Amino acid sequence: MDDHEWFWKNVNRTNDPEECWVWKLGTTDNGYGLVKKSGLPTRRAHRVAWMIHTGELPPDDLMVCHHCDNPPCVNPAHLFLGTAMDNHKDMVSKGRRAPGPPKLYREVKQRLTLKQIEGLKRLSAKTGKMQAALLREALDALLLRHGI
Ligand SMILES: [Zn+2]
Repeated sequence: MDDHEWFWKNVNRTNDPEECWVWKLGTTDNGYGLVKKSGLPTRRAHRVAWMIHTGELPPDDLMVCHHCDNPPCVNPAHLFLGTAMDNHKDMVSKGRRAPGPPKLYREVKQRLTLKQIEGLKRLSAKTGKMQAALLREALDALLLRHGI
C-alpha cells in the first residue's frame, strides 16, 4: 500500500463530494487531522489531502483553508488556498470566529498575570466588549499570524 492509499484509508470518505470527509486518526489541539506515519514528516491532514489532490506543495506564504469550516475535513473539494487574511475574511464572512479551541483559551486565561488581567478589565470597560471576547480576538490574531 502506498502513502496515498494509506492516507485515504484513514479518511471517512463518502461518495458525496458535498459531504465532509473526516480524518479518522489523531488531531491537533485545534482539531485539524494530523498525519503521523513513520518515514513521513508529521503534517496536518488537510494539507496532505491538498497536496495529493493537486500534486503540489502549498506555497509557504499561503494556507490551505476550509470552505466548510470543519478542521478535520480533508475533502479536496472543501479546501482552498489562501492567505491568512483570506482565511480570516472567509471566516468573518460566515460569521465564524477564527479557530481556537475553548481549552486553549482557558489555558491562556489561567496564565495571565495580574497586570494583564487588569489591562483586560480596563479594555473591556473602554470598548464594552466581554473580556473573553477580547482575549479570543487577541489569541486569534496571534494564531493567524503564525498560520495556525
Ligand atoms: Zn468539509
